[in-house]
Amino acid sequence: MKKILLSASLLMMLFSCQNEDSAKISSTDNKSTARYCASQEVLERQLKEDPTLALRMNKIEEFTENFSKNPSSYRLVNGKIEIPVVVNVLYKTTAENISLTQIQSQINVLNQDFNATNTDYNQVPALFAGVKANVGISFVLDQVIRKSTTKTSWGTADAMKKTSTGGLAPTTPTTKLNLWVCTIGGGILGYAQFPGGSSSTDGVAIDSKYFGLSGTANYPYNLGRTATHEVGHWMNLRHIWGDATCGSDLVSDTPTHNTANYGVPTYPHLSTCSGTPVEMTMNYMDYTDDRGMYMFSTGQKTRMDAIFAVGGSRASFR
Ligand SMILES: [Zn+2]
Repeated sequence: MKKILLSASLLMMLFSCQNEDSAKISSTDNKSTARYCASQEVLERQLKEDPTLALRMNKIEEFTENFSKNPSSYRLVNGKIEIPVVVNVLYKTTAENISLTQIQSQINVLNQDFNATNTDYNQVPALFAGVKANVGISFVLDQVIRKSTTKTSWGTADAMKKTSTGGLAPTTPTTKLNLWVCTIGGGILGYAQFPGGSSSTDGVAIDSKYFGLSGTANYPYNLGRTATHEVGHWMNLRHIWGDATCGSDLVSDTPTHNTANYGVPTYPHLSTCSGTPVEMTMNYMDYTDDRGMYMFSTGQKTRMDAIFAVGGSRASFR
C-alpha cells in the first residue's frame, strides 16, 4: 500500500509535473487497438487554458482529504444518490445515431458497476476482497437529445459540447450528468471532465463504438466499461497508475501500478514498483479490456462520496 500526502502545495506540484509522464503514455503506438482515454490530456489542456482551475482542484483535494479522514462527520444529503443522465447523440451516419436500446443498456451497466451487481463482481481475487466496494450511486436516463451533423469526428477539444462548433451544449450540468455519444477519432474511446472544471463543458464524451452493450458497441469494449471508467473520472478518480511510472492515484488502498495494463492480464500481475505488489488490474480505472475490469475500491468510493457530500464540488447533484 502506498503512502499519499495531499497537501495543497504538493498537489500544485503534482498538477504541474504531470505533462511529461502523460506525454509518454499518449505516445503509445498501439492506441488504435488498445484502450485510450483522453481525460488526463484534456485536464492538462484545461489547466493551461485556465490558471484558476489548479486552485479549484487543489481545494477539492483538500476537501477530499478532510472527508476521507472522517467521512461520518460529513452530511450526505438525501441518503442515496441518483444521478439523472442526459445523453447527447451527435451523428452523421445512421450507425452513429444509436438506438434507445443501446443507450438504456449503458445506463444499466452503470447501475450494475456502481452498485456491485455486475455479474463479474465475484471474480475479484481474494487478495482484494477486503477493499472491493459497492459505490452505491445509481443513474436514471433523463432524456436523449439527438442532432444530425456533418462532422465525421469530434476530437478532444470539447467541440461536441458547444453549439458554436456544431455540437450540443450540456443540459443543466449542475444537476444532470451529460454524456456525449459521437465519433471522437484518434483511437480515443472517451474522456471525462474532472470536478472543478467549467460547467459549460462538464460531462463525459464517449465514442459510439464503445458505448453500451448492443448496436455499434465493438469488442473488446462492448460491455459498457468505457462509461464506467469515464464516470469514475467525472467523480474525481484518477487512473490507477497515476498517469506516471509508479505514480499515485491519490487512493491508499490500491496497489502502485507501473503503468497502464492492457488486454486481460493473467493474475497475479506483479508491479515492479517499490514492494512489487500484485496490481489491481481488474479495477475500472486501469486500461484493460471491458471483460478484464470489474471493481472499484473502498478508497475510490470515499473519493467519490466526498464529491457529493455537503460542501463537495458536485453536492448540487444530491
Ligand atoms: Zn481514463
